[in-house]
Amino acid sequence: MAIAVGIPESVKGFLDGKPKGLFIDNEYVDAASGETMASINPATGEPFAEVQVANEQDIDRAVASARKALEGEWGTMSPDDRGRLMWRLADLVEANLEELATLETLDNGKPIVAARRDDIPNVAAMFRYYGGWATKNHGKTIPVSAGNFHCYTRHEPVGVCAGIIPWNYPIMMAGWKLAPALACGNVMIVKPAEQTPVSLLRFAELMREAGFPAGVVNIVNGDGPNAGGPLARHAGVDKVAFTGSVETGRRIMEASLGNLKRVSLELGGKSPNIVFADSDPDERGDGALWGIFYNMGQDCTAGSRLFVDSGVYEDVVGQLVEGAKGLTVGPGLDESVDMGPLVSQEQMEKVLGYIEIGGGSDGARVASGGERVGDSGYFVQPTVLADASNDMRIAQEEIFGPVVTVIPFKDEDELVAKANDSIFGLGAGVWTSDIKRAHRVAAALKAGTVWVNTYGPVDPAAPFGGYKQSGHGREMGEYALDLYSEVKCVWVNLD
Ligand code: NAP
Ligand code: MG
Repeated sequence: MAIAVGIPESVKGFLDGKPKGLFIDNEYVDAASGETMASINPATGEPFAEVQVANEQDIDRAVASARKALEGEWGTMSPDDRGRLMWRLADLVEANLEELATLETLDNGKPIVAARRDDIPNVAAMFRYYGGWATKNHGKTIPVSAGNFHCYTRHEPVGVCAGIIPWNYPIMMAGWKLAPALACGNVMIVKPAEQTPVSLLRFAELMREAGFPAGVVNIVNGDGPNAGGPLARHAGVDKVAFTGSVETGRRIMEASLGNLKRVSLELGGKSPNIVFADSDPDERGDGALWGIFYNMGQDCTAGSRLFVDSGVYEDVVGQLVEGAKGLTVGPGLDESVDMGPLVSQEQMEKVLGYIEIGGGSDGARVASGGERVGDSGYFVQPTVLADASNDMRIAQEEIFGPVVTVIPFKDEDELVAKANDSIFGLGAGVWTSDIKRAHRVAAALKAGTVWVNTYGPVDPAAPFGGYKQSGHGREMGEYALDLYSEVKCVWVNLD
């Protein structure tokens, strides 16, 4: 596989070869740590940019800056003005779409076609949608019976928020947190994942250009223990919004105990994608294929447990294998690829390890793929592990890569019990042409999102989040306003 794609023109201005500082108070500042780290281009395994990394002292500085912004111009800005800034940002994101999409592909590896079509437009849509909420997140008057009182509620910002985000959709994951937080009048410090520290810095520059006052958003790069931990523990942080692994989610909750800060968690998944025999034969093959291989399977809602009705099992596995073999794997900057590399060497090794377990001790059948592609970059073939059962490790543990575990089933009750037999409960798919079955199964599944005859669409207006160990709280939609608002009840004696 030839990897002949260099650094595109669109990002040459931004990637000037110097290590990027921390973004605090609308400026790049030097980290007290004096340390830097590289961002590796997963398509080549070579560094393409360098960033400075934060330590505890830098986190203190970012929190102080955020607090000052909250108590300053931002805290007294009218909801209408906040909304306008958000809309201006949405316009700037669209105007700079090519540059942002390119940075996302260099940082993360994903196909640029997907970054252009999905990641970046989604963030613009988030800011437009929540820009509208800035003027609509209002309280109520309450007709109390306790006496002659005028009783009403006010929705106030929670305060200084921290967004700790993963590497799979860097700008989008930040946007899912920033947009509702800012609409509700909060300020936010964002810590990107180590693997993808670059693209969000350009996004922060656009926030400055849109006119957000200094300190409303601060970006602190760094690793989990030295930057994420101090942020999650910080007494000056009122809320942490986290997306990532269950294990880190637990640490974030522990770190919140000191000041009992609010925590919302969007963690992993092992989502069942369920194909009934009565589903449309032309739709279900692609549904199974893209349910898992979108974003190289590095998606918290990836349809990684594919349950297939035994009546159509051979057909569907055949379609899936044929589809997987037809996918082109290559550098994300190549416009023709369906799948890019995985994000890092570590992630590639983890995924290859699970494939070995699947075909080895678990005893599933490697029906397609299973190998690394090439020897530079972190490419893995789209892999189908067939004839599996729900108690295998490859059915219970999150692989977070292009690997689907296919499990046959015979009847609906047995299927529902197995689909729900997981520590996770994030997403689920149901493929059927029986409308009664569709609603019955959607109601029975323990998952925050159920897609029927589709898989994976998200929208700023639609809530997203998990049951069980997939997390707490719902991002997006009207529901996310709750994550970023305190409710104050005011009583006025009218006698
Ligand atoms: P992770 O460690 O949970 O990383 C998520 C974020 O938390 C990163 O910014 C990370 O920083 C930070 N972090 C790590 N340790 C921390 C700590 N002690 N205190 C505060 N923040 C901390 O996830 P990962 O290592 O990137 O990936 C591991 C697994 O998580 C994946 O294989 C996948 O199963 C799952 N995952 C899920 C999602 C999702 O959307 N639900 C997304 C990504 C990954 P560093 O980057 O420096 O570690
Ligand atoms: Mg990590």
